Amino acid sequence: MTQDTAYWRAKAASLSFDGRAYIDGAYCDAADGATFASTSPIDGRKLADVAACGAADVDRAVRAARRAFEAGVWSGLAPRERKARLLRLAALIDAHREELALLETLDMGKPIRDALAFDVPETARCYAWYAEAIDKIYDEIAPTGPDALATITREALGVVAAVVPWNYPLMMAAWKVAPALAAGNSVILKPAEQASLSAIRLAALAEEAGIPAGVFSVVPGMGAQAGQALGLHPDVDCIAFTGSTATGKRFMEYSGQSNLKRVWLECGGKSPHIVFEDCPDLDRAALAAALGIFSNQGEVCIAGSRLYVQDGIYDAFMAKVAAHAAALQPGDPLDPATAMGAMVDERQMRGVLARIEAGAAEGARLRLGGRQALGASGGYYIEPTIFDCADQGNSLVREEIFGPVLAAQRFATEDDAVRLANDSVYGLGAGLWTANLSRAHRLSRRLRAGLVWVNCYADGDITVPFGGVKQSGFGRDKSLHALDKYSDLKTTWISLTV
Ligand code: NAD
Repeated sequence: MTQDTAYWRAKAASLSFDGRAYIDGAYCDAADGATFASTSPIDGRKLADVAACGAADVDRAVRAARRAFEAGVWSGLAPRERKARLLRLAALIDAHREELALLETLDMGKPIRDALAFDVPETARCYAWYAEAIDKIYDEIAPTGPDALATITREALGVVAAVVPWNYPLMMAAWKVAPALAAGNSVILKPAEQASLSAIRLAALAEEAGIPAGVFSVVPGMGAQAGQALGLHPDVDCIAFTGSTATGKRFMEYSGQSNLKRVWLECGGKSPHIVFEDCPDLDRAALAAALGIFSNQGEVCIAGSRLYVQDGIYDAFMAKVAAHAAALQPGDPLDPATAMGAMVDERQMRGVLARIEAGAAEGARLRLGGRQALGASGGYYIEPTIFDCADQGNSLVREEIFGPVLAAQRFATEDDAVRLANDSVYGLGAGLWTANLSRAHRLSRRLRAGLVWVNCYADGDITVPFGGVKQSGFGRDKSLHALDKYSDLKTTWISLTV
Protein backbone atom coordinates (compact mmCIF):
# COMPACT_ATOMS: atom_id res chain seq x y z
CA MET A 1 0.00 0.00 0.00
CA THR A 2 1.50 3.33 -1.00
CA GLN A 3 -0.76 5.55 1.12
CA ASP A 4 0.53 6.41 4.58
CA THR A 5 -1.20 7.26 7.86
CA ALA A 6 -1.33 10.96 6.99
CA TYR A 7 -3.16 10.12 3.76
CA TRP A 8 -5.82 8.10 5.59
CA ARG A 9 -6.21 10.69 8.35
CA ALA A 10 -6.72 13.43 5.79
CA LYS A 11 -9.19 11.29 3.88
CA ALA A 12 -11.04 10.46 7.10
CA ALA A 13 -11.23 14.17 7.99
CA SER A 14 -12.81 14.98 4.63
CA LEU A 15 -15.31 12.11 4.69
CA SER A 16 -18.98 12.92 5.23
CA PHE A 17 -21.14 10.36 6.99
CA ASP A 18 -24.74 9.64 6.17
CA GLY A 19 -26.65 8.03 9.01
CA ARG A 20 -30.06 7.93 7.38
CA ALA A 21 -32.07 4.86 6.55
CA TYR A 22 -32.70 3.98 2.89
CA ILE A 23 -36.27 2.83 2.30
CA ASP A 24 -38.24 2.46 -0.94
CA GLY A 25 -35.55 4.09 -3.04
CA ALA A 26 -34.85 7.16 -0.90
CA TYR A 27 -32.76 8.17 2.09
CA CYS A 28 -34.89 9.14 5.08
CA ASP A 29 -34.93 9.64 8.83
CA ALA A 30 -36.66 7.21 11.15
CA ALA A 31 -40.42 7.89 11.22
CA ASP A 32 -40.21 9.15 14.80
CA GLY A 33 -36.93 11.00 14.19
CA ALA A 34 -35.03 8.80 16.64
CA THR A 35 -31.26 8.48 16.23
CA PHE A 36 -28.34 6.90 18.00
CA ALA A 37 -24.71 8.02 18.02
CA SER A 38 -22.17 6.09 16.01
CA THR A 39 -18.73 6.51 17.56
CA SER A 40 -15.34 5.39 16.31
CA PRO A 41 -13.54 2.87 18.53
CA ILE A 42 -10.24 4.26 17.22
CA ASP A 43 -10.48 7.28 19.50
CA GLY A 44 -14.01 7.37 20.90
CA ARG A 45 -15.01 10.22 18.58
CA LYS A 46 -18.59 10.57 17.37
CA LEU A 47 -18.92 9.95 13.65
CA ALA A 48 -22.63 10.39 12.95
CA ASP A 49 -26.16 10.28 14.25
CA VAL A 50 -27.72 7.17 12.77
CA ALA A 51 -31.44 6.64 12.21
CA ALA A 52 -32.84 4.33 14.89
CA CYS A 53 -35.49 2.57 12.83
CA GLY A 54 -38.45 1.02 14.59
CA ALA A 55 -41.48 -1.05 13.68
CA ALA A 56 -43.05 1.70 11.51
CA ASP A 57 -39.90 2.03 9.38
CA VAL A 58 -39.53 -1.71 9.08
CA ASP A 59 -43.15 -2.00 8.03
CA ARG A 60 -42.66 0.65 5.35
CA ALA A 61 -39.57 -1.16 4.04
CA VAL A 62 -41.42 -4.49 3.99
CA ARG A 63 -44.40 -3.03 2.17
CA ALA A 64 -42.10 -1.42 -0.43
CA ALA A 65 -40.19 -4.69 -0.80
CA ARG A 66 -43.40 -6.66 -1.32
CA ARG A 67 -44.73 -4.12 -3.80
CA ALA A 68 -41.54 -4.28 -5.83
CA PHE A 69 -41.55 -8.06 -5.71
CA GLU A 70 -45.14 -8.34 -6.88
CA ALA A 71 -44.58 -5.74 -9.60
CA GLY A 72 -41.73 -7.85 -10.97
CA VAL A 73 -39.39 -4.87 -11.39
CA TRP A 74 -36.57 -7.10 -10.17
CA SER A 75 -38.04 -10.56 -9.60
CA GLY A 76 -39.45 -10.52 -13.12
CA LEU A 77 -36.24 -9.54 -14.88
CA ALA A 78 -34.35 -12.06 -16.97
CA PRO A 79 -31.46 -13.41 -14.91
CA ARG A 80 -28.98 -11.87 -17.36
CA GLU A 81 -30.43 -8.44 -16.57
CA ARG A 82 -30.13 -8.94 -12.81
CA LYS A 83 -26.62 -10.13 -13.51
CA ALA A 84 -25.74 -6.96 -15.41
CA ARG A 85 -26.91 -4.72 -12.57
CA LEU A 86 -25.23 -6.75 -9.84
CA LEU A 87 -22.00 -6.68 -11.83
CA ARG A 88 -22.39 -2.91 -11.98
CA LEU A 89 -22.79 -2.88 -8.20
CA ALA A 90 -19.62 -4.95 -7.83
CA ALA A 91 -17.75 -2.51 -10.07
CA LEU A 92 -19.05 0.46 -8.06
CA ILE A 93 -17.94 -1.14 -4.80
CA ASP A 94 -14.53 -1.63 -6.32
CA ALA A 95 -14.43 1.95 -7.59
CA HIS A 96 -15.27 3.23 -4.07
CA ARG A 97 -12.96 0.85 -2.27
CA GLU A 98 -10.97 3.47 -0.37
CA GLU A 99 -14.08 5.22 0.92
CA LEU A 100 -15.77 1.95 1.90
CA ALA A 101 -12.62 0.60 3.55
CA LEU A 102 -12.29 3.79 5.52
CA LEU A 103 -15.91 3.59 6.68
CA GLU A 104 -15.29 0.04 7.96
CA THR A 105 -12.12 1.05 9.75
CA LEU A 106 -13.53 4.20 11.35
CA ASP A 107 -16.79 2.53 12.34
CA MET A 108 -15.53 -0.75 13.80
CA GLY A 109 -11.78 -0.34 14.30
CA LYS A 110 -10.23 -2.89 11.95
CA PRO A 111 -6.88 -2.07 10.32
CA ILE A 112 -7.25 -0.08 7.12
CA ARG A 113 -4.91 -2.47 5.36
CA ASP A 114 -7.28 -5.39 6.02
CA ALA A 115 -10.39 -3.43 5.06
CA LEU A 116 -8.72 -2.40 1.81
CA ALA A 117 -7.04 -5.68 0.93
CA PHE A 118 -9.74 -8.05 2.14
CA ASP A 119 -13.16 -6.76 3.22
CA VAL A 120 -13.96 -4.51 0.27
CA PRO A 121 -12.51 -6.63 -2.57
CA GLU A 122 -14.13 -9.78 -1.13
CA THR A 123 -17.44 -7.91 -0.96
CA ALA A 124 -17.18 -6.83 -4.61
CA ARG A 125 -16.16 -10.37 -5.61
CA CYS A 126 -19.18 -11.81 -3.81
CA TYR A 127 -21.66 -9.64 -5.74
CA ALA A 128 -19.86 -10.39 -9.00
CA TRP A 129 -19.78 -14.14 -8.31
CA TYR A 130 -23.53 -14.47 -7.70
CA ALA A 131 -24.20 -12.17 -10.63
CA GLU A 132 -22.15 -14.44 -12.87
CA ALA A 133 -23.80 -17.56 -11.48
CA ILE A 134 -27.44 -16.66 -11.76
CA ASP A 135 -27.89 -16.98 -15.54
CA LYS A 136 -26.23 -20.40 -15.61
CA ILE A 137 -28.57 -22.31 -13.36
CA TYR A 138 -31.21 -24.58 -14.91
CA ASP A 139 -34.31 -26.05 -13.34
CA GLU A 140 -35.25 -29.75 -13.44
CA ILE A 141 -37.60 -32.16 -15.13
CA ALA A 142 -38.39 -35.21 -13.02
CA PRO A 143 -37.88 -38.74 -14.40
CA THR A 144 -41.60 -39.57 -14.29
CA GLY A 145 -43.36 -42.15 -16.47
CA PRO A 146 -44.55 -41.34 -20.01
CA ASP A 147 -47.97 -40.09 -18.92
CA ALA A 148 -46.75 -37.00 -17.14
CA LEU A 149 -44.31 -34.16 -17.25
CA ALA A 150 -43.16 -32.88 -13.87
CA THR A 151 -41.07 -29.76 -13.60
CA ILE A 152 -39.20 -28.72 -10.47
CA THR A 153 -38.60 -25.01 -10.62
CA ARG A 154 -36.91 -22.59 -8.27
CA GLU A 155 -38.89 -19.53 -7.27
CA ALA A 156 -37.72 -16.51 -5.33
CA LEU A 157 -39.15 -16.37 -1.80
CA GLY A 158 -40.27 -12.75 -1.83
CA VAL A 159 -39.05 -10.51 0.99
CA VAL A 160 -35.75 -11.50 2.60
CA ALA A 161 -34.35 -9.66 5.63
CA ALA A 162 -30.61 -9.86 6.27
CA VAL A 163 -29.64 -9.13 9.88
CA VAL A 164 -25.88 -8.93 10.26
CA PRO A 165 -23.12 -8.29 12.81
CA TRP A 166 -20.41 -5.65 12.94
CA ASN A 167 -17.18 -7.63 12.53
CA TYR A 168 -17.15 -7.66 8.71
CA PRO A 169 -20.07 -5.32 8.05
CA LEU A 170 -19.96 -5.19 4.24
CA MET A 171 -18.85 -8.77 3.73
CA MET A 172 -21.34 -10.43 6.08
CA ALA A 173 -24.07 -8.43 4.38
CA ALA A 174 -22.81 -9.41 0.91
CA TRP A 175 -22.87 -13.13 1.74
CA LYS A 176 -26.65 -12.78 2.17
CA VAL A 177 -27.70 -9.81 0.04
CA ALA A 178 -25.84 -10.95 -3.10
CA PRO A 179 -27.38 -14.45 -3.45
CA ALA A 180 -30.79 -13.24 -2.26
CA LEU A 181 -30.89 -10.44 -4.84
CA ALA A 182 -29.43 -12.65 -7.56
CA ALA A 183 -32.25 -15.15 -6.93
CA GLY A 184 -34.82 -12.38 -7.53
CA ASN A 185 -35.89 -11.48 -4.00
CA SER A 186 -36.41 -8.05 -2.48
CA VAL A 187 -33.94 -7.59 0.39
CA ILE A 188 -33.98 -5.50 3.55
CA LEU A 189 -30.62 -5.14 5.27
CA LYS A 190 -30.41 -4.47 9.02
CA PRO A 191 -26.79 -3.64 9.85
CA ALA A 192 -25.43 -3.93 13.37
CA GLU A 193 -25.85 -0.76 15.42
CA GLN A 194 -22.09 -0.73 16.12
CA ALA A 195 -21.21 -0.39 12.42
CA SER A 196 -24.01 0.80 10.12
CA LEU A 197 -22.28 3.38 7.95
CA SER A 198 -20.96 1.20 5.13
CA ALA A 199 -24.35 -0.51 4.69
CA ILE A 200 -25.99 2.90 4.43
CA ARG A 201 -23.45 3.96 1.79
CA LEU A 202 -24.00 0.68 -0.08
CA ALA A 203 -27.63 1.64 -0.67
CA ALA A 204 -26.60 4.60 -2.83
CA LEU A 205 -24.29 2.39 -4.87
CA ALA A 206 -27.08 -0.16 -5.34
CA GLU A 207 -29.36 2.59 -6.58
CA GLU A 208 -26.66 3.81 -8.97
CA ALA A 209 -26.23 0.23 -10.21
CA GLY A 210 -29.90 0.12 -11.19
CA ILE A 211 -31.46 -1.86 -8.34
CA PRO A 212 -35.07 -0.55 -8.40
CA ALA A 213 -36.74 1.28 -5.50
CA GLY A 214 -38.02 -1.07 -2.80
CA VAL A 215 -35.87 -4.00 -3.95
CA PHE A 216 -33.03 -3.12 -1.60
CA SER A 217 -33.58 -1.15 1.61
CA VAL A 218 -31.36 -0.50 4.62
CA VAL A 219 -32.93 -0.08 8.07
CA PRO A 220 -30.30 0.75 10.68
CA GLY A 221 -31.33 0.51 14.30
CA MET A 222 -31.14 -1.42 17.51
CA GLY A 223 -31.54 -5.18 17.54
CA ALA A 224 -34.38 -5.11 20.01
CA GLN A 225 -36.31 -2.65 17.80
CA ALA A 226 -35.45 -2.86 14.09
CA GLY A 227 -34.16 -6.45 14.32
CA GLN A 228 -37.11 -7.69 16.31
CA ALA A 229 -39.60 -5.90 14.04
CA LEU A 230 -38.15 -7.75 11.05
CA GLY A 231 -38.18 -11.04 12.93
CA LEU A 232 -41.83 -10.65 13.88
CA HIS A 233 -43.12 -9.08 10.67
CA PRO A 234 -45.90 -11.19 9.13
CA ASP A 235 -44.85 -10.35 5.57
CA VAL A 236 -41.13 -11.13 5.75
CA ASP A 237 -40.56 -14.53 4.12
CA CYS A 238 -37.05 -15.23 5.30
CA ILE A 239 -34.51 -14.05 7.85
CA ALA A 240 -30.87 -14.55 6.95
CA PHE A 241 -29.04 -13.92 10.20
CA THR A 242 -25.42 -13.76 11.27
CA GLY A 243 -24.65 -12.97 14.88
CA SER A 244 -24.61 -14.50 18.31
CA THR A 245 -26.25 -17.80 19.17
CA ALA A 246 -28.45 -16.05 21.76
CA THR A 247 -29.91 -13.72 19.14
CA GLY A 248 -30.21 -16.58 16.65
CA LYS A 249 -32.45 -18.40 19.12
CA ARG A 250 -34.62 -15.30 19.38
CA PHE A 251 -35.13 -15.27 15.62
CA MET A 252 -36.40 -18.85 15.79
CA GLU A 253 -38.89 -17.70 18.42
CA TYR A 254 -39.94 -14.66 16.39
CA SER A 255 -40.62 -16.98 13.47
CA GLY A 256 -42.81 -19.25 15.60
CA GLN A 257 -44.65 -16.27 17.05
CA SER A 258 -45.37 -14.77 13.63
CA ASN A 259 -45.60 -16.37 10.19
CA LEU A 260 -43.18 -19.30 10.36
CA LYS A 261 -40.76 -17.44 8.13
CA ARG A 262 -37.64 -19.35 7.14
CA VAL A 263 -34.72 -18.56 9.43
CA TRP A 264 -31.11 -19.22 8.46
CA LEU A 265 -28.58 -18.87 11.23
CA GLU A 266 -24.84 -18.29 11.16
CA CYS A 267 -24.03 -18.01 14.83
CA GLY A 268 -21.15 -18.15 17.28
CA GLY A 269 -18.13 -20.40 17.47
CA LYS A 270 -15.36 -21.65 19.73
CA SER A 271 -13.27 -23.32 17.10
CA PRO A 272 -10.53 -25.82 17.95
CA HIS A 273 -7.13 -25.66 16.25
CA ILE A 274 -5.18 -28.91 16.69
CA VAL A 275 -1.45 -29.32 16.15
CA PHE A 276 0.02 -32.84 16.09
CA GLU A 277 3.66 -33.71 16.72
CA ASP A 278 3.95 -34.73 13.05
CA CYS A 279 2.94 -31.23 11.90
CA PRO A 280 4.79 -30.71 8.59
CA ASP A 281 5.75 -27.07 9.27
CA LEU A 282 5.70 -25.86 12.86
CA ASP A 283 6.64 -22.29 11.97
CA ARG A 284 3.80 -21.97 9.55
CA ALA A 285 1.40 -23.60 11.98
CA ALA A 286 2.48 -21.21 14.76
CA LEU A 287 1.88 -18.20 12.55
CA ALA A 288 -1.51 -19.63 11.51
CA ALA A 289 -2.40 -20.24 15.16
CA ALA A 290 -1.58 -16.62 16.04
CA LEU A 291 -3.36 -15.13 13.03
CA GLY A 292 -6.23 -17.58 13.53
CA ILE A 293 -7.13 -15.88 16.79
CA PHE A 294 -5.68 -12.36 16.60
CA SER A 295 -6.77 -11.32 13.09
CA ASN A 296 -9.56 -8.77 13.16
CA GLN A 297 -8.82 -8.36 16.92
CA GLY A 298 -10.23 -11.83 17.52
CA GLU A 299 -13.68 -10.59 16.48
CA VAL A 300 -14.12 -13.47 14.08
CA CYS A 301 -16.75 -16.21 14.27
CA ILE A 302 -14.26 -18.84 13.08
CA ALA A 303 -11.44 -17.60 15.35
CA GLY A 304 -9.27 -20.52 16.42
CA SER A 305 -9.77 -19.65 20.07
CA ARG A 306 -9.00 -23.14 21.44
CA LEU A 307 -5.51 -24.34 20.58
CA TYR A 308 -4.76 -28.02 21.27
CA VAL A 309 -1.08 -28.94 20.97
CA GLN A 310 0.33 -32.46 21.34
CA ASP A 311 2.49 -32.98 24.43
CA GLY A 312 5.88 -33.48 22.77
CA ILE A 313 5.89 -30.12 20.98
CA TYR A 314 3.76 -28.06 23.36
CA ASP A 315 6.47 -25.86 24.93
CA ALA A 316 8.43 -25.21 21.76
CA PHE A 317 5.29 -24.56 19.73
CA MET A 318 3.72 -22.22 22.28
CA ALA A 319 6.94 -20.19 22.41
CA LYS A 320 6.65 -19.68 18.64
CA VAL A 321 2.96 -18.72 18.85
CA ALA A 322 3.73 -16.22 21.62
CA ALA A 323 6.52 -14.67 19.54
CA HIS A 324 4.16 -14.13 16.61
CA ALA A 325 1.48 -12.79 18.95
CA ALA A 326 3.87 -10.35 20.62
CA ALA A 327 4.64 -8.91 17.19
CA LEU A 328 0.93 -8.23 16.61
CA GLN A 329 0.48 -5.43 19.16
CA PRO A 330 -2.50 -3.17 18.47
CA GLY A 331 -1.87 0.12 16.74
CA ASP A 332 -3.63 2.99 15.00
CA PRO A 333 -5.97 1.31 12.50
CA LEU A 334 -5.32 4.15 10.04
CA ASP A 335 -1.62 3.29 9.97
CA PRO A 336 -1.14 0.87 7.04
CA ALA A 337 1.49 -0.99 9.08
CA THR A 338 -1.03 -1.89 11.81
CA ALA A 339 -2.12 -5.52 11.84
CA MET A 340 -4.37 -5.36 14.92
CA GLY A 341 -6.82 -2.53 15.49
CA ALA A 342 -9.41 -1.48 18.05
CA MET A 343 -12.23 -3.52 19.60
CA VAL A 344 -15.59 -2.46 18.18
CA ASP A 345 -16.67 -0.42 21.22
CA GLU A 346 -16.05 0.15 24.90
CA ARG A 347 -18.65 -2.43 25.91
CA GLN A 348 -16.96 -5.15 23.88
CA MET A 349 -13.55 -4.19 25.26
CA ARG A 350 -14.78 -4.25 28.86
CA GLY A 351 -16.52 -7.58 28.26
CA VAL A 352 -13.36 -9.18 26.89
CA LEU A 353 -11.24 -7.80 29.76
CA ALA A 354 -13.76 -9.25 32.23
CA ARG A 355 -13.48 -12.68 30.53
CA ILE A 356 -9.70 -12.48 30.80
CA GLU A 357 -9.95 -11.73 34.51
CA ALA A 358 -12.45 -14.54 35.09
CA GLY A 359 -10.34 -17.10 33.23
CA ALA A 360 -7.28 -16.21 35.28
CA ALA A 361 -9.30 -16.43 38.49
CA GLU A 362 -10.45 -19.92 37.45
CA GLY A 363 -6.82 -21.04 37.23
CA ALA A 364 -5.62 -20.46 33.67
CA ARG A 365 -1.99 -19.27 33.45
CA LEU A 366 -1.45 -16.00 31.60
CA ARG A 367 1.41 -16.35 29.12
CA LEU A 368 1.05 -13.08 27.18
CA GLY A 369 -0.91 -9.83 27.21
CA GLY A 370 -4.16 -9.56 29.12
CA ARG A 371 -4.43 -5.77 29.37
CA GLN A 372 -6.01 -2.81 27.69
CA ALA A 373 -3.60 -1.04 25.33
CA LEU A 374 -3.22 2.48 23.90
CA GLY A 375 -5.47 3.92 26.61
CA ALA A 376 -4.32 7.48 25.90
CA SER A 377 -5.86 7.29 22.40
CA GLY A 378 -9.38 7.39 23.84
CA GLY A 379 -10.03 4.19 21.85
CA TYR A 380 -10.59 0.57 22.85
CA TYR A 381 -7.61 -1.72 22.36
CA ILE A 382 -6.58 -5.03 23.93
CA GLU A 383 -3.21 -6.76 23.82
CA PRO A 384 -3.01 -10.16 22.14
CA THR A 385 -3.58 -12.51 25.04
CA ILE A 386 -2.55 -16.14 25.51
CA PHE A 387 -3.46 -18.47 28.36
CA ASP A 388 -2.22 -21.97 29.12
CA CYS A 389 -5.28 -23.83 30.30
CA ALA A 390 -5.10 -27.17 32.03
CA ASP A 391 -8.83 -27.34 32.54
CA GLN A 392 -11.32 -27.95 29.73
CA GLY A 393 -13.99 -26.55 32.06
CA ASN A 394 -12.36 -23.10 32.25
CA SER A 395 -14.66 -20.41 30.85
CA LEU A 396 -11.85 -19.36 28.48
CA VAL A 397 -12.24 -22.77 26.83
CA ARG A 398 -16.01 -22.97 26.96
CA GLU A 399 -17.34 -19.51 26.09
CA GLU A 400 -17.07 -17.49 22.93
CA ILE A 401 -15.11 -14.37 23.85
CA PHE A 402 -15.00 -12.65 20.45
CA GLY A 403 -11.73 -10.94 21.29
CA PRO A 404 -7.97 -11.54 21.04
CA VAL A 405 -7.80 -14.27 23.67
CA LEU A 406 -6.30 -17.70 23.01
CA ALA A 407 -6.74 -20.67 25.37
CA ALA A 408 -4.05 -23.32 24.75
CA GLN A 409 -4.11 -26.89 26.07
CA ARG A 410 -2.01 -30.03 25.78
CA PHE A 411 -3.28 -33.35 24.54
CA ALA A 412 -1.75 -36.81 24.38
CA THR A 413 -3.46 -38.92 21.71
CA GLU A 414 -5.56 -38.48 18.58
CA ASP A 415 -8.64 -39.65 20.46
CA ASP A 416 -7.99 -37.06 23.17
CA ALA A 417 -7.72 -34.34 20.55
CA VAL A 418 -11.05 -35.31 18.96
CA ARG A 419 -12.77 -35.58 22.33
CA LEU A 420 -11.54 -32.16 23.49
CA ALA A 421 -12.23 -30.50 20.13
CA ASN A 422 -15.79 -31.81 19.96
CA ASP A 423 -16.51 -30.94 23.60
CA SER A 424 -18.30 -27.66 22.82
CA VAL A 425 -21.81 -26.48 22.14
CA TYR A 426 -20.44 -24.87 18.98
CA GLY A 427 -19.37 -26.49 15.72
CA LEU A 428 -18.27 -23.84 13.25
CA GLY A 429 -14.62 -24.35 12.22
CA ALA A 430 -11.80 -26.74 13.15
CA GLY A 431 -8.16 -26.82 12.06
CA LEU A 432 -5.58 -29.58 12.21
CA TRP A 433 -1.92 -29.87 11.30
CA THR A 434 -0.50 -33.28 10.50
CA ALA A 435 1.70 -34.93 7.87
CA ASN A 436 -0.32 -38.14 8.17
CA LEU A 437 -2.80 -38.33 5.30
CA SER A 438 -4.99 -40.98 6.91
CA ARG A 439 -5.19 -39.01 10.12
CA ALA A 440 -6.13 -35.87 8.18
CA HIS A 441 -9.03 -37.68 6.52
CA ARG A 442 -10.03 -39.47 9.70
CA LEU A 443 -10.21 -36.28 11.71
CA SER A 444 -11.98 -34.31 8.99
CA ARG A 445 -14.76 -36.85 9.39
CA ARG A 446 -14.70 -37.06 13.17
CA LEU A 447 -14.59 -33.34 13.94
CA ARG A 448 -18.07 -31.92 14.41
CA ALA A 449 -17.74 -28.69 12.48
CA GLY A 450 -19.08 -27.17 9.29
CA LEU A 451 -15.58 -26.25 8.12
CA VAL A 452 -12.35 -28.22 8.56
CA TRP A 453 -8.93 -26.92 7.56
CA VAL A 454 -5.99 -29.24 7.11
CA ASN A 455 -2.51 -27.73 7.32
CA CYS A 456 -3.92 -24.23 7.15
CA TYR A 457 -6.46 -22.20 9.12
CA ALA A 458 -9.51 -20.20 7.99
CA ASP A 459 -8.62 -20.49 4.31
CA GLY A 460 -11.39 -20.49 1.72
CA ASP A 461 -13.08 -18.47 -0.96
CA ILE A 462 -16.53 -17.73 -2.31
CA THR A 463 -16.71 -21.12 -4.09
CA VAL A 464 -17.14 -23.15 -0.88
CA PRO A 465 -20.01 -23.21 1.64
CA PHE A 466 -19.53 -21.51 5.01
CA GLY A 467 -21.45 -22.30 8.17
CA GLY A 468 -21.70 -24.52 11.18
CA VAL A 469 -23.36 -27.35 13.04
CA LYS A 470 -24.70 -27.59 16.60
CA GLN A 471 -25.30 -24.15 18.13
CA SER A 472 -23.18 -22.47 15.47
CA GLY A 473 -26.31 -22.54 13.33
CA PHE A 474 -27.51 -24.05 10.08
CA GLY A 475 -27.75 -23.13 6.45
CA ARG A 476 -24.70 -22.12 4.46
CA ASP A 477 -23.43 -18.82 3.16
CA LYS A 478 -21.27 -18.66 0.01
CA SER A 479 -21.09 -21.05 -2.96
CA LEU A 480 -24.06 -22.10 -5.11
CA HIS A 481 -25.59 -23.81 -2.06
CA ALA A 482 -26.42 -20.39 -0.60
CA LEU A 483 -28.91 -19.84 -3.40
CA ASP A 484 -31.02 -22.69 -1.98
CA LYS A 485 -31.76 -20.53 1.06
CA TYR A 486 -33.36 -17.83 -1.02
CA SER A 487 -35.60 -19.88 -3.28
CA ASP A 488 -38.40 -22.40 -2.93
CA LEU A 489 -38.87 -25.47 -5.06
CA LYS A 490 -42.14 -25.74 -6.93
CA THR A 491 -43.37 -29.03 -8.35
CA THR A 492 -45.69 -28.82 -11.34
CA TRP A 493 -47.17 -32.15 -12.42
CA ILE A 494 -48.72 -32.06 -15.89
CA SER A 495 -50.81 -34.96 -17.05
CA LEU A 496 -50.13 -35.84 -20.67
CA THR A 497 -53.18 -38.07 -20.95
CA VAL A 498 -55.93 -35.55 -21.68
P1 NAD B 1 -25.59 -9.98 17.96
O1 NAD B 1 -26.34 -11.26 17.97
O2 NAD B 1 -25.60 -9.16 19.18
O3 NAD B 1 -26.12 -9.04 16.80
C1 NAD B 1 -26.23 -9.47 15.46
C2 NAD B 1 -27.37 -8.71 14.79
O4 NAD B 1 -28.59 -9.05 15.46
C3 NAD B 1 -27.24 -7.19 14.88
O5 NAD B 1 -27.71 -6.62 13.69
C4 NAD B 1 -28.15 -6.85 16.04
O6 NAD B 1 -28.67 -5.55 15.99
C5 NAD B 1 -29.24 -7.88 15.90
N1 NAD B 1 -29.91 -8.15 17.17
C6 NAD B 1 -29.37 -8.12 18.42
N2 NAD B 1 -30.31 -8.40 19.35
C7 NAD B 1 -31.47 -8.62 18.69
C8 NAD B 1 -32.78 -8.95 19.09
N3 NAD B 1 -33.12 -9.10 20.37
N4 NAD B 1 -33.74 -9.12 18.13
C9 NAD B 1 -33.42 -8.97 16.82
N5 NAD B 1 -32.19 -8.64 16.39
C10 NAD B 1 -31.22 -8.48 17.29
O7 NAD B 1 -24.11 -10.35 17.52
P2 NAD B 1 -22.88 -9.35 17.36
O8 NAD B 1 -22.35 -9.02 18.70
O9 NAD B 1 -23.23 -8.22 16.46
O10 NAD B 1 -21.85 -10.26 16.57
C11 NAD B 1 -21.02 -11.15 17.18
C12 NAD B 1 -21.55 -12.55 17.03
O11 NAD B 1 -21.73 -12.87 15.65
C13 NAD B 1 -20.60 -13.61 17.54
O12 NAD B 1 -21.29 -14.56 18.30
C14 NAD B 1 -20.04 -14.22 16.29
O13 NAD B 1 -19.55 -15.52 16.44
C15 NAD B 1 -21.18 -14.15 15.36
N6 NAD B 1 -20.74 -14.23 13.96
C16 NAD B 1 -20.99 -15.39 13.28
C17 NAD B 1 -20.57 -15.54 11.98
C18 NAD B 1 -20.85 -16.80 11.21
O14 NAD B 1 -20.77 -16.78 9.99
N7 NAD B 1 -21.18 -17.89 11.86
C19 NAD B 1 -19.90 -14.49 11.34
C20 NAD B 1 -19.65 -13.31 12.07
C21 NAD B 1 -20.10 -13.19 13.38
